[in-house]
Amino acid sequence: MKINKKHIFSLLIILIIAVGALSIASAYTGTGFSHNIPSSKYYDLSASDILNKYQKTDCHVEESGICTKVVDGDTIYLDNGDKIRLVGVNTPERGVEGYIVSKNFVQKLCLNKKVGIDIDDSKHSDRYGRTLGVVIVNGKNVNEMLLKEGLAEIMYMPPSEFYPFDWADSDTQVSSSHSSSSSSHPTSSKSTSSSESASYVGNSNTGKFHEPSCSSVNKMSDRNKVFFSGRNDAISQGYAPCKMCNP
Ligand SMILES: [Zn+2]
Repeated sequence: MKINKKHIFSLLIILIIAVGALSIASAYTGTGFSHNIPSSKYYDLSASDILNKYQKTDCHVEESGICTKVVDGDTIYLDNGDKIRLVGVNTPERGVEGYIVSKNFVQKLCLNKKVGIDIDDSKHSDRYGRTLGVVIVNGKNVNEMLLKEGLAEIMYMPPSEFYPFDWADSDTQVSSSHSSSSSSHPTSSKSTSSSESASYVGNSNTGKFHEPSCSSVNKMSDRNKVFFSGRNDAISQGYAPCKMCNP
């Protein structure tokens, strides 16, 4: 094939689109909250090991059901169709450092188990129709545990029956945005490395990470891409190496 001006022009266009897509993917930080707690911290702990560390809550179970799905650290689904947004807390969004660890923690405690909900009497649901409440497992407050473990930041949005500052330790991060909708305040300090310095690309959906040249990376949707500067970086965030490209 002879390379003519037309080919070079198309290549340039493709390159511009690719660079644009990558920068959008790496700029996405949700509310910006992230943490770098290693997933290995919970590998050897059972749900009861974790629950035993905590006192009974004085929250009251107003609704209960089996947890059928954990969307992320602060959202779960129940078998009665209710979607629960854990009130007073905010965990890393999908694709942000710490997302998998916070989600796995809640899965360990809640998934396929009977959980109780203390619904926020001051504000029953958020604008997405999710019930706002405290998730209670074996009489313990999961929202409080997320804050005490550093897996969530405080997100206090009055009016609320609950005051999450009472659950947190003194060094817990507080959401700077005070709104789950503001994605316009990306915090750069602790967010995932940008694509420029990335040696590996993770898929927040599968939990696998790859060489940038792996064919899986091309098929990956941009919103699922997470960039890592090193192998240990990926592993400490709970990602497993791809079996095809062996990163
Ligand atoms: Zn791969």
